[in-house]
Amino acid sequence: MMLDGRSAVVVGGGIGGLAAALALRRTGWAVTVLERAPQIREVGAGLTIMENGLSCLNQLGVGERIRQMSVLQPPAIRRWDGQWLVRATGAAAVRVGTVGMHRAELHRILLEALPSEVVRTDATVVGVADGTVRYADSGGEGEIVADLVVAADGIRSTVRNLLWPEVPAPSYGGSTVWRAVTAEPWTGSDVLGFSWGPGMEFGMGPMVDGRAYWYLAVNAPPGTRHDDQLAAVRALVGDWHDPIPELLAATDPEAIRPDDIYQLATHPASFVRGKVVLLGDAAHAMLPTLGQGAGQAMEDAVVLAAELARTTSITDALAAYDRARRPRARRIANLARLSGAMGQRLTNGALVGLRNAAYRALPPAMTIGTLGVVTNWRAPVLAARG
Ligand SMILES: Cc1cc2nc3c(=O)[nH]c(=O)nc-3n(C[C@H](O)[C@H](O)[C@H](O)COP(=O)(O)OP(=O)(O)OC[C@H]3O[C@@H](n4cnc5c(N)ncnc54)[C@H](O)[C@@H]3O)c2cc1C
Repeated sequence: MMLDGRSAVVVGGGIGGLAAALALRRTGWAVTVLERAPQIREVGAGLTIMENGLSCLNQLGVGERIRQMSVLQPPAIRRWDGQWLVRATGAAAVRVGTVGMHRAELHRILLEALPSEVVRTDATVVGVADGTVRYADSGGEGEIVADLVVAADGIRSTVRNLLWPEVPAPSYGGSTVWRAVTAEPWTGSDVLGFSWGPGMEFGMGPMVDGRAYWYLAVNAPPGTRHDDQLAAVRALVGDWHDPIPELLAATDPEAIRPDDIYQLATHPASFVRGKVVLLGDAAHAMLPTLGQGAGQAMEDAVVLAAELARTTSITDALAAYDRARRPRARRIANLARLSGAMGQRLTNGALVGLRNAAYRALPPAMTIGTLGVVTNWRAPVLAARG
């Protein structure tokens, strides 16, 4: 049901853009997503979603589908040699409610929940002036006029660069991450949680199709690349605890993808400029050390739609979105930085020892409990304006 003829253009068809399109459509908006890629797809790697993100997916109407296509990930942290630092079992493991899934699967579920005509691929946005969006596609240039423009075009957002030129470029987060999924269903011992070595974190998890995903984050200068990615990973973690060596052996070297990690260290002073609003990584790209970038993009999406459904004034709704989302995103981004500094990025031997001792001494409810600020957030109910 489309109300009032309100129309929105969403720039970018990533997880944030598709979530925004779904949220807006569920509250009565006509939406067009412009995505520059010729085909809409996500990279092949694992992704975790915590309860805050799951509550958004419920409001987007895909919660059940996500639960079917994901696997519960009990919190677990080990030292590189296998010594347990945090191990939650039973109710404590379930309470956190984090699930893992293939990132492409989440993306596909969001895409399939939208009518096919909503998303236009091969359409690169090249200009935005308030409600007018200019894009280039294989046929030349086109223009769409809308009541709202949602810039969900990622960390290197064109829209942000055009309308928020004062925001500094993304900065390097200090780490490279290798990510992969096993070629075949995983039959080895449990793939569970993540493990720390000095300046390194190896994480792994099961997927619903039986395969396992893993990642290795390492302190490294930007642009660090190797001809043989698998050999480079083996040289770093080939002697870590089981099942890490077997997991590497079960990985096709061609499937390993390295990425340098960047963040938007300075967030915009406002996420809103006229009818244009920033969302997801375009607004607040953060380090992946908390696994919250997509979660925060989904929070943005449902809050934006909920605020717009609350009032007839788009201006008031966008101001409310900005008030709600900027402090929250700032807080989570700071927490992600802290979590990285105390976790993967830590190299000082004495501090590593202290951290590990503290994690071993504290009950999991306390160490995991610090995530409450992230996971206790719940999405507002999405309903069209009556
Ligand atoms: C190693 C790693 C691990 C991560 N793990 C997790 C995790 O476990 N859990 C979690 O919640 N988050 C995680 N994240 C973060 C998460 O991936 C991102 O925060 C999230 O995908 C951002 O989504 P987005 O839609 O805002 O941006 P993007 O995914 O970057 O999408 C932007 C889209 O806009 C398109 N686009 C760009 N410019 C234009 C243009 N001019 N015109 C049209 N289209 C355009 C792009 O092609 C792209 O499709 C991780 C990130 C990394 C790097």
